[in-house]
Amino acid sequence: MTSTLHPPIVAQTNDGMPGTAQPVTLRRRAVMTADEAAAADRLLTGATPHEIVAWALGRFGRRLVLTASFAETTLIDIATTVDPDIEVIFLDTGFHFPETLNAMRRSMERYALNLTVLRPDASAADVWASGTEACCEARKKAPLERHLVDHADAWLSGLRRADDAARADAPIVSIDRRGLVKVNPIVAMSDAEYEAYNAEHDVVVNTLRYDGYASIGCWPCTEPSTDRSGRWAGSGKTECGLHL
Ligand code: SF4
Repeated sequence: MTSTLHPPIVAQTNDGMPGTAQPVTLRRRAVMTADEAAAADRLLTGATPHEIVAWALGRFGRRLVLTASFAETTLIDIATTVDPDIEVIFLDTGFHFPETLNAMRRSMERYALNLTVLRPDASAADVWASGTEACCEARKKAPLERHLVDHADAWLSGLRRADDAARADAPIVSIDRRGLVKVNPIVAMSDAEYEAYNAEHDVVVNTLRYDGYASIGCWPCTEPSTDRSGRWAGSGKTECGLHL
């Protein structure tokens, strides 16, 4: 694979009052209807992850982005095989483990990513002063949605049905509450298929995986676990809100 080396774009996106959770601003008519998304979902059932990415690129072109958490680069590996220049977005909350930032740097070297890093401002709400909902809103949801509002019609997510029971029925194609088309190319991959792909393609792996972290988020809200129960453990919270 050949690729142009892209310097990462660092976008400062939270310009609100200090310490407040900025409201979600992206609400708009989707470029597909719900019926069209359901038809695409049926069409792509049984397709390979590469075929799903190719369909999304053909349908949305440069208005398609990929969000990455840098736990493993499985989706990045697949998507950049189809289009080396696809925009990859990383939400730098300010609370990532050093291992995650290291995985991002290694991924830049490996894939020459067209990477956009979104950051909140220095006074954005934090988990200690404002709680997890306000913190995720200010540091994840709001920066992403401000970036996407003029920038994208669709996004690729790496969630899988095997992640946990709450994701067991996740579709391949849907319209999210923002009005964006959400495409999940690896949603049907079992754990065994996922591990086999990662080994065969030697994807970049966050070293926390080897320390017992099955799911990796921000350090204040992540404990070692064999499943996603290590995220916001004991709080009842299971999602940051990006996947609603
Ligand atoms: S996961 Fe925790 S630290 Fe990270 S943005 Fe959400 S509440 Fe804040």
